[in-house]
Amino acid sequence: MCATVGVPQALLYYKYFPLWSTFLDGLGAEVVVSGATTKKMINTGTSLGENELCLPVKVFFGHLVDLKDKADALFVPRVVSVEKRAYTCPKFLGLPDLARSVDGSLPDILDPVFNSRLSRRKYYEAIFDFGKTFTRNKVRIIRAWSAGLTAQKAYERRLEAGLTPMEAMAGEAAAPAGGSLRIGIAGHPYNIYDPYTSLNLIKKLRQWDIDVVTTEMLPAKVLHKEAGRLPKRLFWSYEQEVVGSVFHWLNTKSVDGIIYVLSFACGPDSLVQALLESETRRKGGMPLMSLVVDEHSGEAGMITRVEAFVDMLRWRRQ
Ligand code: SF4
Repeated sequence: MCATVGVPQALLYYKYFPLWSTFLDGLGAEVVVSGATTKKMINTGTSLGENELCLPVKVFFGHLVDLKDKADALFVPRVVSVEKRAYTCPKFLGLPDLARSVDGSLPDILDPVFNSRLSRRKYYEAIFDFGKTFTRNKVRIIRAWSAGLTAQKAYERRLEAGLTPMEAMAGEAAAPAGGSLRIGIAGHPYNIYDPYTSLNLIKKLRQWDIDVVTTEMLPAKVLHKEAGRLPKRLFWSYEQEVVGSVFHWLNTKSVDGIIYVLSFACGPDSLVQALLESETRRKGGMPLMSLVVDEHSGEAGMITRVEAFVDMLRWRRQ
């Protein structure tokens, strides 16, 4: 049995940490989270990963190494599918294998499978199999899982109330609205909320008196409905959410402009970028800026671009 389980503060941490930590806690594990992303972690991850890997996976590797001496095992789930008829990005399907290949001296990798394409019985069998790593008590496993689901629902409600993941997890209050502009930020949560890789984009915009709304702040129902307008359904659930948020802002005109944050070397993101740019033109040209992040992104260059974008939005408002 593993007493201490390390959870990397990267990738799907921003989506599912309340579920995972409550589940692990209910199983009797002590949960340890890696520190905030640093330059050193990015350098470590970049040195361990193949060149063509996207930045978020390299960052994830840096977080694994950060946990090396802090945990008995590392939690790296294989998130195959989170809804019927769609998959996650292939990197998430193979993440435990990637994790095992980066550094042979890492603690054991715990890799529960989450696959909504399986029958309900098989889905729960996978959860039981994982729970048995900690306890033979089936009731305890069920209780731990359902407590995790409850925590996750509460967390998602807080996101929809306008909180970022870190604010929602810390129990903070929502930032007051009423800024001079409102900007929609679309993108994967690990790109827009990691303060280091996003270069603190949300914090900076708020300091400039701008209200920020993100993909996670919209209800799942809205995201699905909007993404459903595509003539052909996207394979990847998380890309559907990004598309759904941008389509929503275009249709409701509820923001002054949109910033789409995407990763260099991300196949799904580059396809979605083209789709969003063409839809934005078709819908009358709401300002949309694509910000590509990679390990070489410099704060000065990004701030200059965002400032110019904000100036243009203010000018349009006058
Ligand atoms: S969706 Fe893109 S950025 Fe995210 S893990 Fe997959 S390849 Fe990387």
